[in-house]
Amino acid sequence: MDKEQIVKSLTIEQKVKLLTGESFWKTHAIKALDLPSITLTDGPHGLRKSVSHDALNTLNESVKAVAYPTAATLANSFDESLIESVGRQIALHAKAEDISVLLAPGVNIKRSPLCGRNFEYFSEDPYLAGKCGARFIRGVESTGVMASLKHFAVNNQETRRMTIDSVVDERALREIYLKPFEIAIKEGKPSTVMTAYNKVNGIYASEHSTLLKTILRNEWHYKGLILSDWGAVNDRVLSLKAGLDLEMPGPSLDNQKTIIHAIRHKTLPMRMVNESIQRYLDVLEKAIAIKKEAIDLKEDHKLALKAAEKSLVLLKNNDQLLPFKKDQSFGLIGALAENARIQGGGSSKVNPTKVISLKNALLDYEAKFIYTPGYTIKDQPTDEDAIKKAVKIAKEKDVIVLAIGLTDDYETEGLDRTHLKIPRNQFEMVKAVKAVNNNIVYVLFGGAPFQIPYESEAKAIIHAYLPGQAGGKAISKALFGEINPSGKLNETWPLKLSDVPSVQYFANQPYYQHYRESIYVGYRYYDKAEKAVLYPFGHGLSYTTFEYSDLKINKKILAEKEWVDISVTVTNTGEYDGEEVVQLYVKNAESQLFKADKELKGFKKIALEKGQSKTVKFSLSHHDFYYYHSKRNRFVTERGEYKLLLASSSKDIRLSTTLDVTTQRNIQPPVYKETAPSYYSLKSEPFTVSTKQFQAINTYPVPTEPPKKITLNTPLEDLKHTIIGTKLYERVQREMKDADLMTKSMMKTIPLRTLSTMSQGRFKKKTAIVMVDFMNHQFLKGIKHYFSRS
Ligand code: BGC
Repeated sequence: MDKEQIVKSLTIEQKVKLLTGESFWKTHAIKALDLPSITLTDGPHGLRKSVSHDALNTLNESVKAVAYPTAATLANSFDESLIESVGRQIALHAKAEDISVLLAPGVNIKRSPLCGRNFEYFSEDPYLAGKCGARFIRGVESTGVMASLKHFAVNNQETRRMTIDSVVDERALREIYLKPFEIAIKEGKPSTVMTAYNKVNGIYASEHSTLLKTILRNEWHYKGLILSDWGAVNDRVLSLKAGLDLEMPGPSLDNQKTIIHAIRHKTLPMRMVNESIQRYLDVLEKAIAIKKEAIDLKEDHKLALKAAEKSLVLLKNNDQLLPFKKDQSFGLIGALAENARIQGGGSSKVNPTKVISLKNALLDYEAKFIYTPGYTIKDQPTDEDAIKKAVKIAKEKDVIVLAIGLTDDYETEGLDRTHLKIPRNQFEMVKAVKAVNNNIVYVLFGGAPFQIPYESEAKAIIHAYLPGQAGGKAISKALFGEINPSGKLNETWPLKLSDVPSVQYFANQPYYQHYRESIYVGYRYYDKAEKAVLYPFGHGLSYTTFEYSDLKINKKILAEKEWVDISVTVTNTGEYDGEEVVQLYVKNAESQLFKADKELKGFKKIALEKGQSKTVKFSLSHHDFYYYHSKRNRFVTERGEYKLLLASSSKDIRLSTTLDVTTQRNIQPPVYKETAPSYYSLKSEPFTVSTKQFQAINTYPVPTEPPKKITLNTPLEDLKHTIIGTKLYERVQREMKDADLMTKSMMKTIPLRTLSTMSQGRFKKKTAIVMVDFMNHQFLKGIKHYFSRS
């Protein structure tokens, strides 16, 4: 493809078309120049190729595809090559369906367990999230299909995600929220990156030139295409200037006109447009090179099974109750064992080729069990009859397997949870069953932490997360010891919601959300605050036991530009073959800077037959001891004595050694002991930081006032105090009455600007502008806008 020639031959209108989607999933073709269109589609857990083009309704049917464990589940495997295989297989399916860009993976940080989309994200830890994302991308891109790393950046809640301003200090931004993207960009090399809906420190991510230009392109040397999340563009000209190449979805006719107007009036340099076109053509060239190949989805189902098996987490196993003997008879209680919950709701939802529930898998296995649902999947009032049946079984059987967890109504894109409870009807059932039988094995489903009722009374717990279509089979194999669960938690399970560091600052503000906990996300907080948790980050048992020995490092002093090699021997000392995830944490040196107690810097998953030993090796560079110096705007390594911890979980440290890290110059870290003492002593319950202290660690003024006027970005539900707003709100809700949970929720807070871009021409931007004028009582201005030509 002669890209330079094409750029020369394209008219302004054609260029603008190439930088704007043609429809919901396609870009424009330019027939005169033989340029075909590209199809992009979700997603991260299996192909979701829509069979309809209806823009605003995600209820659309999609083609049958294999539903893999969701990202949160896969991350529990800590198995990078497995994650790469899943990425690869989804991409091969994409290829068979003529899809060039797969809208995956998402590497946003799980800031709070309440985020409705956590099941789509890998971890609370930036290193783990980045590594998982990078390998998924490598899998995708190895097929020729292109990945889209999303949602760049600081998109950590669903509440008002289209307009919320994520206000985060520079250090947390770099160390926590951007880090997974940085790792995924540098190691995964995705062809495309998707910008988030939200604002970051006052500026929409889609037009954030510091994020897109300074950091992504200049610092991380990213050369690929940047595209918008669906409907995320605010000001199209600003977004192009900031480096966002492709607006999706299309046709977004108003924005096309705006770009043409800006080019003609020289407020948007043609050079910038051409650079974006170049990047688009790079992607198009790769898309053209993809050769369609058939795929055997039956084979893919096997990979979905393997992935589910490797991601199961054995949270607890008192008295070695598990695994069961082949002839173990038991009661199976819980509708989730029959109506398998395999995935979360929203844009990643796959239409599975088949679903194996736990109940069916156990029937196939010819296990000796009696089943009763005990509750309904819909969160209906407790059904006393269903509970009676459950209690009867619980009295008859020695052991009870109880399937409980979050249901579809609790966990979806577009909606955050407000508590950590499971549905009431499940809770009542558990209470009744455990009163008559204390040999309980829980099987848990759900893409994020929740409160496990009577957890301390359960003997064993297997957590399947959202295990994909083969999940039931994987669990049954684990129950009977055909496989040995080896997953480890990608996130901390807190004891209660009020323990979560962001609890007071999450999804509870209408316009901006202060990330006041700063770097203290997940175990970085719990460990530093010495707060007890239910299950720590990295936790997961096994049917066997592992011993760590012979920790070696090749130097005691690490100077700049040097690496330190670390090795440790791990032996399987139990009765089963198994896999262990060896974790390497760096325990931070004493500092004037506020720091986490420790940070994950490496992990390796190894398979060990019983009695077998293996040596695991890690290398850390001087750079791995960095922190982000917000006053110098760069990562800096602080000298001092650090500890290297070899661990089986963040709380199960098996061996440790010290390392002296030296630097040529001693750079003083920013010290906030006087101005922001809350970050040094994390004792407040719940964790509290005043506005003043949060301001002290920020380099920008933090917003504290709501916007004064209605704008195109005011969420629809905030317009209800006006007549026009009420009418519009009601109309939109009427049109959405049959939509899914995510769409319904999204349409309550959609801003007029997005309503217009997503309506595919039905709701004109001009109409939206006039409405805004009228709602602000600027009637003359509104009339003027009404009669204006654009
Ligand atoms: C989601 C993206 C998704 C896109 C297309 C958006 O609402 O945030 O993750 O890829 O829709 O379905």
